[in-house]
Amino acid sequence: MSDNDLLQRFLFERWPVRGHFVRLNASWRAVIEHHAYPEPVREVLGEAMAATVLLAGSLKFEGLLTLQMQGPGPLHLLVAQCTHRKAIRAVARHREAVVVPGSLAELTGGGQVTVTIENEDRSNRYQGMVPMEREHLAGCLEHYLERSEQVPSKLIVASDGTSAAGLLLQRMPAGSSASAESDPHAEAEAAEEWRRLELLASTLKPEELLGLPLTTILHRLFHEDDVRLFEGAPVFFQCTCSRERVEGILRSLGHEEVGDIIQERGSVEVRCEFCNRAYQYDAVDAATLFAVTVTPASREVH
Ligand SMILES: [Zn+2]
Repeated sequence: MSDNDLLQRFLFERWPVRGHFVRLNASWRAVIEHHAYPEPVREVLGEAMAATVLLAGSLKFEGLLTLQMQGPGPLHLLVAQCTHRKAIRAVARHREAVVVPGSLAELTGGGQVTVTIENEDRSNRYQGMVPMEREHLAGCLEHYLERSEQVPSKLIVASDGTSAAGLLLQRMPAGSSASAESDPHAEAEAAEEWRRLELLASTLKPEELLGLPLTTILHRLFHEDDVRLFEGAPVFFQCTCSRERVEGILRSLGHEEVGDIIQERGSVEVRCEFCNRAYQYDAVDAATLFAVTVTPASREVH
Protein backbone atom coordinates (compact mmCIF):
# COMPACT_ATOMS: atom_id res chain seq x y z
CA MET A 1 0.00 0.00 0.00
CA SER A 2 1.29 3.46 -0.88
CA ASP A 3 0.69 4.84 2.64
CA ASN A 4 3.19 2.43 4.21
CA ASP A 5 5.91 4.07 6.34
CA LEU A 6 4.82 7.55 5.32
CA LEU A 7 4.10 10.76 7.21
CA GLN A 8 1.50 12.78 5.34
CA ARG A 9 0.21 16.30 5.80
CA PHE A 10 -3.09 17.84 4.78
CA LEU A 11 -4.97 21.12 5.09
CA PHE A 12 -8.60 22.12 5.17
CA GLU A 13 -9.08 24.73 2.45
CA ARG A 14 -11.87 26.63 4.21
CA TRP A 15 -10.86 26.34 7.88
CA PRO A 16 -7.66 27.08 9.81
CA VAL A 17 -7.20 23.39 10.53
CA ARG A 18 -4.32 21.15 9.47
CA GLY A 19 -3.70 17.45 9.80
CA HIS A 20 -0.91 14.90 9.89
CA PHE A 21 -1.26 11.20 9.26
CA VAL A 22 1.26 8.43 9.74
CA ARG A 23 1.24 4.71 9.19
CA LEU A 24 4.27 2.66 10.17
CA ASN A 25 4.67 -0.85 8.85
CA ALA A 26 8.22 -2.14 8.15
CA SER A 27 9.65 0.57 10.42
CA TRP A 28 7.30 -0.48 13.25
CA ARG A 29 8.14 -4.15 12.82
CA ALA A 30 11.84 -3.24 13.00
CA VAL A 31 11.16 -1.48 16.33
CA ILE A 32 9.61 -4.60 17.90
CA GLU A 33 11.33 -7.49 16.11
CA HIS A 34 13.94 -8.19 18.80
CA HIS A 35 11.54 -7.87 21.72
CA ALA A 36 8.85 -10.19 23.04
CA TYR A 37 6.65 -7.44 24.45
CA PRO A 38 3.41 -8.43 26.21
CA GLU A 39 0.49 -7.23 24.07
CA PRO A 40 -0.61 -4.30 26.30
CA VAL A 41 2.99 -2.99 26.35
CA ARG A 42 3.41 -3.40 22.59
CA GLU A 43 0.13 -1.59 22.04
CA VAL A 44 1.15 1.48 24.07
CA LEU A 45 4.61 1.43 22.45
CA GLY A 46 3.01 1.49 18.98
CA GLU A 47 0.71 4.33 19.97
CA ALA A 48 3.66 6.25 21.40
CA MET A 49 5.73 5.60 18.25
CA ALA A 50 2.98 6.90 15.93
CA ALA A 51 2.34 9.90 18.21
CA THR A 52 6.08 10.73 18.30
CA VAL A 53 6.25 10.84 14.49
CA LEU A 54 3.13 13.04 14.37
CA LEU A 55 4.60 15.43 16.97
CA ALA A 56 7.88 15.55 15.03
CA GLY A 57 5.93 16.29 11.84
CA SER A 58 3.92 19.08 13.44
CA LEU A 59 6.83 20.90 15.09
CA LYS A 60 9.65 22.87 13.50
CA PHE A 61 13.06 21.61 14.63
CA GLU A 62 16.28 20.11 13.33
CA GLY A 63 17.40 17.34 15.61
CA LEU A 64 15.73 14.76 17.79
CA LEU A 65 12.32 14.55 19.43
CA THR A 66 12.04 12.11 22.33
CA LEU A 67 8.83 11.03 24.01
CA GLN A 68 9.46 9.39 27.36
CA MET A 69 6.94 7.81 29.69
CA GLN A 70 7.99 7.00 33.21
CA GLY A 71 5.93 5.63 36.08
CA PRO A 72 5.94 3.16 38.97
CA GLY A 73 3.59 0.63 37.26
CA PRO A 74 4.24 -2.62 35.32
CA LEU A 75 5.16 -0.58 32.21
CA HIS A 76 7.69 1.64 33.93
CA LEU A 77 9.70 3.14 31.08
CA LEU A 78 9.02 3.84 27.44
CA VAL A 79 11.19 5.86 25.06
CA ALA A 80 10.20 6.70 21.47
CA GLN A 81 12.35 8.90 19.24
CA CYS A 82 12.00 10.57 15.84
CA THR A 83 14.48 12.85 14.09
CA HIS A 84 13.49 15.66 11.71
CA ARG A 85 14.61 13.27 8.91
CA LYS A 86 11.95 10.84 10.23
CA ALA A 87 14.33 8.19 11.52
CA ILE A 88 12.62 6.34 14.37
CA ARG A 89 13.47 3.98 17.22
CA ALA A 90 11.78 3.01 20.49
CA VAL A 91 12.03 0.73 23.49
CA ALA A 92 9.83 -0.19 26.49
CA ARG A 93 10.72 -1.74 29.82
CA HIS A 94 8.18 -3.68 31.83
CA ARG A 95 8.40 -5.34 35.22
CA GLU A 96 5.91 -8.19 35.15
CA ALA A 97 6.27 -11.06 32.66
CA VAL A 98 2.52 -10.90 32.05
CA VAL A 99 1.08 -7.43 31.84
CA VAL A 100 -2.72 -7.29 32.00
CA PRO A 101 -4.49 -4.79 29.74
CA GLY A 102 -5.72 -1.66 31.46
CA SER A 103 -5.90 2.10 31.25
CA LEU A 104 -2.69 4.07 30.75
CA ALA A 105 -2.73 5.02 34.45
CA GLU A 106 -3.04 1.34 35.45
CA LEU A 107 -0.24 0.19 33.12
CA THR A 108 2.19 2.92 34.06
CA GLY A 109 1.01 3.52 37.62
CA GLY A 110 0.62 7.22 36.83
CA GLY A 111 3.82 9.12 36.34
CA GLN A 112 4.63 11.50 33.51
CA VAL A 113 5.05 11.87 29.78
CA THR A 114 8.00 14.04 28.85
CA VAL A 115 8.60 15.46 25.38
CA THR A 116 12.16 16.63 24.71
CA ILE A 117 13.33 18.39 21.56
CA GLU A 118 17.07 18.67 21.07
CA ASN A 119 18.88 20.51 18.30
CA GLU A 120 21.21 18.43 16.14
CA ASP A 121 24.26 20.15 17.61
CA ARG A 122 22.71 19.92 21.13
CA SER A 123 22.87 23.72 21.39
CA ASN A 124 19.20 24.01 22.26
CA ARG A 125 16.92 21.84 24.35
CA TYR A 126 13.22 22.18 25.03
CA GLN A 127 11.30 19.99 27.46
CA GLY A 128 7.60 19.74 28.34
CA MET A 129 5.80 17.41 30.73
CA VAL A 130 2.26 16.22 31.40
CA PRO A 131 0.95 13.73 33.98
CA MET A 132 -0.30 10.35 32.71
CA GLU A 133 -3.71 10.74 34.26
CA ARG A 134 -5.87 10.19 31.18
CA GLU A 135 -7.31 6.86 30.05
CA HIS A 136 -5.12 6.80 26.93
CA LEU A 137 -1.82 8.25 25.75
CA ALA A 138 -3.59 10.26 23.03
CA GLY A 139 -5.53 12.21 25.68
CA CYS A 140 -2.32 13.00 27.58
CA LEU A 141 -0.65 14.28 24.43
CA GLU A 142 -3.66 16.40 23.46
CA HIS A 143 -3.30 17.94 26.92
CA TYR A 144 0.43 18.44 26.28
CA LEU A 145 -0.14 20.16 22.90
CA GLU A 146 -2.86 22.36 24.34
CA ARG A 147 -0.64 23.43 27.24
CA SER A 148 2.85 23.58 25.70
CA GLU A 149 2.09 24.60 22.14
CA GLN A 150 -1.25 26.38 22.75
CA VAL A 151 -2.68 24.41 19.84
CA PRO A 152 -6.08 22.70 20.27
CA SER A 153 -5.45 19.19 18.94
CA LYS A 154 -7.26 15.95 18.27
CA LEU A 155 -5.02 12.88 18.30
CA ILE A 156 -6.04 9.34 17.40
CA VAL A 157 -3.51 6.51 17.50
CA ALA A 158 -3.69 2.73 17.19
CA SER A 159 -1.29 -0.17 16.82
CA ASP A 160 -1.09 -3.94 16.42
CA GLY A 161 1.66 -6.45 15.71
CA THR A 162 2.14 -5.31 12.11
CA SER A 163 1.37 -1.55 12.02
CA ALA A 164 1.15 1.58 14.13
CA ALA A 165 -0.82 4.57 12.85
CA GLY A 166 -2.05 7.96 13.92
CA LEU A 167 -4.05 10.99 12.87
CA LEU A 168 -3.46 14.45 14.32
CA LEU A 169 -5.78 17.39 13.65
CA GLN A 170 -4.77 20.85 14.85
CA ARG A 171 -6.62 24.10 14.94
CA MET A 172 -4.29 26.85 13.82
CA PRO A 173 -4.48 30.34 15.35
CA ALA A 174 -7.12 32.65 13.86
CA GLY A 175 -5.62 34.87 11.21
CA SER A 176 -3.52 32.05 9.77
CA SER A 177 -6.33 31.62 7.28
CA ALA A 178 -8.10 34.34 5.28
CA SER A 179 -11.47 32.92 6.37
CA ALA A 180 -11.00 33.75 10.05
CA GLU A 181 -9.33 37.11 10.42
CA SER A 182 -10.32 39.28 13.36
CA ASP A 183 -14.04 39.10 12.58
CA PRO A 184 -15.77 37.65 15.72
CA HIS A 185 -18.41 35.90 13.58
CA ALA A 186 -15.74 34.23 11.49
CA GLU A 187 -13.92 33.29 14.70
CA ALA A 188 -17.10 31.72 16.19
CA GLU A 189 -17.73 29.89 12.95
CA ALA A 190 -14.15 28.58 12.86
CA ALA A 191 -14.52 27.37 16.47
CA GLU A 192 -17.72 25.55 15.59
CA GLU A 193 -16.16 24.01 12.51
CA TRP A 194 -13.19 22.86 14.62
CA ARG A 195 -15.59 21.07 17.00
CA ARG A 196 -17.32 19.44 14.02
CA LEU A 197 -14.04 18.22 12.49
CA GLU A 198 -12.83 17.00 15.89
CA LEU A 199 -16.06 15.04 16.36
CA LEU A 200 -15.81 13.51 12.88
CA ALA A 201 -12.19 12.50 13.51
CA SER A 202 -13.18 10.78 16.77
CA THR A 203 -15.48 8.40 14.84
CA LEU A 204 -12.44 6.81 13.18
CA LYS A 205 -12.07 3.18 14.28
CA PRO A 206 -8.64 1.64 15.03
CA GLU A 207 -8.99 -0.90 12.20
CA GLU A 208 -9.73 1.95 9.73
CA LEU A 209 -6.73 3.94 10.96
CA LEU A 210 -4.50 0.87 10.63
CA GLY A 211 -5.82 -0.49 7.35
CA LEU A 212 -7.44 2.06 5.03
CA PRO A 213 -5.62 4.31 2.53
CA LEU A 214 -5.46 7.91 3.77
CA THR A 215 -7.52 9.15 0.81
CA THR A 216 -10.32 6.76 1.83
CA ILE A 217 -10.09 7.86 5.49
CA LEU A 218 -10.24 11.55 4.51
CA HIS A 219 -13.16 10.91 2.20
CA ARG A 220 -15.06 8.92 4.85
CA LEU A 221 -14.55 11.53 7.56
CA PHE A 222 -14.49 14.83 5.72
CA HIS A 223 -16.26 14.34 2.37
CA GLU A 224 -18.13 17.64 2.88
CA ASP A 225 -14.85 19.56 3.22
CA ASP A 226 -12.16 20.50 0.73
CA VAL A 227 -8.98 18.84 1.89
CA ARG A 228 -5.61 19.41 0.26
CA LEU A 229 -3.22 16.48 0.66
CA PHE A 230 0.54 17.01 0.37
CA GLU A 231 3.22 14.58 -0.68
CA GLY A 232 4.32 12.26 2.12
CA ALA A 233 7.75 11.90 3.76
CA PRO A 234 9.17 8.41 4.28
CA VAL A 235 9.66 7.19 7.86
CA PHE A 236 12.35 4.59 8.56
CA PHE A 237 13.88 2.71 11.46
CA GLN A 238 17.44 3.73 12.32
CA CYS A 239 19.38 3.30 15.52
CA THR A 240 21.93 5.88 16.60
CA CYS A 241 23.97 3.54 18.77
CA SER A 242 27.68 3.28 17.95
CA ARG A 243 30.90 1.78 19.25
CA GLU A 244 31.96 5.28 20.36
CA ARG A 245 28.83 5.69 22.52
CA VAL A 246 29.27 2.26 24.09
CA GLU A 247 32.91 3.09 24.80
CA GLY A 248 31.72 6.20 26.62
CA ILE A 249 29.53 4.01 28.85
CA LEU A 250 32.39 1.60 29.55
CA ARG A 251 34.75 4.47 30.38
CA SER A 252 32.22 5.79 32.88
CA LEU A 253 32.12 2.34 34.53
CA GLY A 254 35.86 2.54 35.08
CA HIS A 255 38.87 0.39 34.21
CA GLU A 256 38.62 -1.72 37.35
CA GLU A 257 35.01 -2.79 36.91
CA VAL A 258 35.39 -3.50 33.18
CA GLY A 259 38.62 -5.42 33.93
CA ASP A 260 36.83 -7.54 36.55
CA ILE A 261 34.07 -8.53 34.10
CA ILE A 262 36.64 -9.43 31.43
CA GLN A 263 38.59 -11.53 33.90
CA GLU A 264 35.43 -13.36 34.92
CA ARG A 265 33.84 -13.87 31.50
CA GLY A 266 36.59 -13.32 28.97
CA SER A 267 34.89 -10.28 27.43
CA VAL A 268 32.34 -7.55 28.01
CA GLU A 269 29.22 -7.48 25.86
CA VAL A 270 26.98 -4.44 25.66
CA ARG A 271 23.73 -4.94 23.78
CA CYS A 272 21.76 -1.96 22.43
CA GLU A 273 18.22 -2.03 23.78
CA PHE A 274 16.81 -0.30 20.71
CA CYS A 275 18.27 -2.43 17.88
CA ASN A 276 19.71 -5.46 19.72
CA ARG A 277 23.17 -4.90 18.22
CA ALA A 278 25.91 -6.40 20.40
CA TYR A 279 29.22 -4.65 21.07
CA GLN A 280 32.03 -6.83 22.41
CA TYR A 281 35.25 -5.92 24.14
CA ASP A 282 38.04 -8.28 25.13
CA ALA A 283 41.10 -7.60 27.29
CA VAL A 284 43.02 -6.01 24.40
CA ASP A 285 40.08 -3.70 23.53
CA ALA A 286 39.75 -2.69 27.18
CA ALA A 287 43.47 -1.94 27.41
CA THR A 288 43.17 0.35 24.37
CA LEU A 289 40.03 1.90 25.78
CA PHE A 290 41.66 2.86 29.05
CA ALA A 291 45.12 3.60 27.70
CA VAL A 292 46.26 7.03 28.78
CA THR A 293 46.55 9.13 25.69
CA VAL A 294 49.50 11.46 25.90
CA THR A 295 49.05 14.59 23.86
CA PRO A 296 51.95 16.95 23.36
CA ALA A 297 51.57 20.05 25.47
CA SER A 298 50.05 22.80 23.41
CA ARG A 299 52.33 25.67 22.70
CA GLU A 300 51.11 29.05 23.74
CA VAL A 301 50.46 31.42 20.93
CA HIS A 302 50.97 35.09 21.60
ZN1 LIG B 1 21.18 0.41 18.53
